[in-house]
Amino acid sequence: MIQAPTLKTLLVKVVIVLLPFFVVGFFSEHVYLSLFIGTICILLWNYYHLVKLINWLWHKRDAYPPRSKGVWADVFDAIYHQQRKHRKKRNELSVLVRRFRLGAESLPDAAIVFNEDKTLVWCNSLAQAMLGFKWPEDRGNRIDNFLRSPEFLSYLNAKNYDEPFEFTSPVDEHVILECRIAPFEKDKWTLICRDITALKQLEQMRKDFVANVSHELRTPLTVMRGYLEVLGDGDIPSTPIWQKAHKMMTEQTVRMDALVNQLLTLTKLENQQYTVGAGQVDVKSLLTTVKNEAESLSAGKHNISLSVESGLGILGESEQLRSAFSNLVFNAVRYTPEGGQIDIECKKKSDGSIVFSVKDTGDGIPAEHLSRLTERFYRVEQARTRDSGGSGLGLSIVKHVLSNYDSELKIKSEVTKGSKFSFVIDEQFTCEIED
Ligand code: ADP
Repeated sequence: MIQAPTLKTLLVKVVIVLLPFFVVGFFSEHVYLSLFIGTICILLWNYYHLVKLINWLWHKRDAYPPRSKGVWADVFDAIYHQQRKHRKKRNELSVLVRRFRLGAESLPDAAIVFNEDKTLVWCNSLAQAMLGFKWPEDRGNRIDNFLRSPEFLSYLNAKNYDEPFEFTSPVDEHVILECRIAPFEKDKWTLICRDITALKQLEQMRKDFVANVSHELRTPLTVMRGYLEVLGDGDIPSTPIWQKAHKMMTEQTVRMDALVNQLLTLTKLENQQYTVGAGQVDVKSLLTTVKNEAESLSAGKHNISLSVESGLGILGESEQLRSAFSNLVFNAVRYTPEGGQIDIECKKKSDGSIVFSVKDTGDGIPAEHLSRLTERFYRVEQARTRDSGGSGLGLSIVKHVLSNYDSELKIKSEVTKGSKFSFVIDEQFTCEIED
């Protein structure tokens, strides 16, 4: 363990060196001259070691310090000790950096680190393959020189990285990438991109499959329904078995028809991009139509009320909105026992948004099902739903439609007491309808 020399030991050493000069001066009666010569010797000795130190620090590659004595030996040892400590730390750090880079290289995704001013700090080899960067040549270049798609640039500049972003690879237009940006350290960000082409193709195949099957089922269903209607006009034997078979077949084809139509609506919603300027929908007249249809579905078994302000308008597709409103209202009719009350309400809030709600005094839904109701084909009780002719697609259609308006379906329900389904349409999607 190296001990740092104290001031006291330094002074003692100076006194020891000067002592012979003092003795010689004392006997030769030239004390001051002798002490002066001694001081000059100490100065020269110090300069000599200073030059040795400078020479070692600047010019020699040797790790070990030059040999020395006295206080300079302490100085050399202290510097050597510090240097060894730094060298060890540097080695540890470079091992850490190497490990981090190896880890990042083994990632299945492209990873890049960039500065606040969008200049590239580092990228892995997948980033070079997927995004076209060259390492290390592109270090310090702006990443928006490589990733130039306008959508990506607006995502990058918006600095809202909560949701991932999809874009086409600048290297291969057939490759779709999903990227996420996250803070890395102060003023630095990481961009992680993964190839989701196969996933997208699968998704498209699923959509195409559902669309094609639903479409192909329409013709045979129309033929069957047509014949069943014709046969219903007295052309079937009046035996109970025939009558029952005819009734069952008619019910099931109607159900299948509704299912196919709902599947087609969902497919259309998935493939269609909503445009705000698509049209102005008169909420009052739309809800009046839906209420009338609900009354004919209810066949007088429920008391249905409608409260809607005049002049309320929504910017969007009338068919989509009709689908959302009617699914909620028809559900209220289907899942409310005879004699129940159904209240449909639509009003404008002070912030300009429109609130829609359907309240019923029906069966209600157990709490554990609420979060899953908008999943496709999700039904609370299979038997009960089948009796009601349900398919489990209604609420997922509502969810899809509402997502076009950045809105969400809110469900409150209590078993045996009833349910309330509601949503809010933001002011940006609303308009005034002239009488
Ligand atoms: P379905 O076509 O089966 O009605 P939905 O997606 O519209 O499909 O609804 C999903 C499930 O949510 C239904 O099966 C039903 O059990 C439940 N549900 C929907 N609306 C109501 C309601 N108003 N009251 C009670 N249960 C409801």
